[in-house]
Amino acid sequence: MNEYVGIDIGGTKIEAVLVDERNTVLNTCRIPARPGAQNVLDDVIGITRRLGGEPVAVGVGLPGQVDSVTGVVRDIVNLDIVKLELGREASKALGIPVQVENDVNAAALGAVALIDDQVSAGDTVVFLNFGTGLAAGVVRDGHVERGYSGSYGEIGHIPVDPNKFLCNCGQRGCLETVTSGGSVAKLWPGQPPLPDLIEKAKAGEPRAMEVYGIVQHGLADTIQVVGQAYDPKLIVLGGGMAKTGRPLLDMIVEEMRRREETSHFITSLHLPERLRLAPVEQPIGAIGAALAAPRD
Ligand SMILES: [Zn+2]
Repeated sequence: MNEYVGIDIGGTKIEAVLVDERNTVLNTCRIPARPGAQNVLDDVIGITRRLGGEPVAVGVGLPGQVDSVTGVVRDIVNLDIVKLELGREASKALGIPVQVENDVNAAALGAVALIDDQVSAGDTVVFLNFGTGLAAGVVRDGHVERGYSGSYGEIGHIPVDPNKFLCNCGQRGCLETVTSGGSVAKLWPGQPPLPDLIEKAKAGEPRAMEVYGIVQHGLADTIQVVGQAYDPKLIVLGGGMAKTGRPLLDMIVEEMRRREETSHFITSLHLPERLRLAPVEQPIGAIGAALAAPRD
């Protein structure tokens, strides 16, 4: 059975898996991320060799502008990369094909693979990455949707929030100014922010209740945007914020139920029933990157 390597490159760590054709994880490896194009290239090559086995192809998921056709990655601010021909350079050094993929798209593929008992051929699944920012990975019939310009899942910069908080994209009121892990940390600098916010709001602390309401409203708007625009079978909650687990899901469902009370239309969409928490205890980014690796 063929073996594949999947590598998930984040701002602070690199996580890699060796899997077989059935996505069974045969080996894992995790190292700290080092900034700089040459370091990232060296680490991709090094971690692939450390995993051992006999991989026939490698998939790499990473943030920034990722061109999955040319293998070129650009503008990864956290890693101090302006431009890196990662696909070509890594493939040359390793002697096997190396496919690069946007990290949210890779995580979406990984999430779909890990909940595959609930997904059938032809289904659309939206993976929401509540990370530093907010973006969606959309998988239809096992393939990543890219759209015309590659910005298919960039829902985080849809300006809808009435608070009109300034977004670092230059607009005001973007969804991600209230619903990303980064924005929650800014609005509620607790440790960790979302669980602390939920706890204090439930205890009736006025400022916490106010922030809770803002975040909850934005989360429900996000679910409606993806539910109504993509009409997926499942909406998977992932990214750092999803580590909050059940309380995050409850927070969203509470607001969706409130909206259903006054809207037959919203009720008819059955959005709460479509929500799933990503299996965040598993390396879904790396497993998904392995699925993005070229296969025969
Ligand atoms: Zn924005």
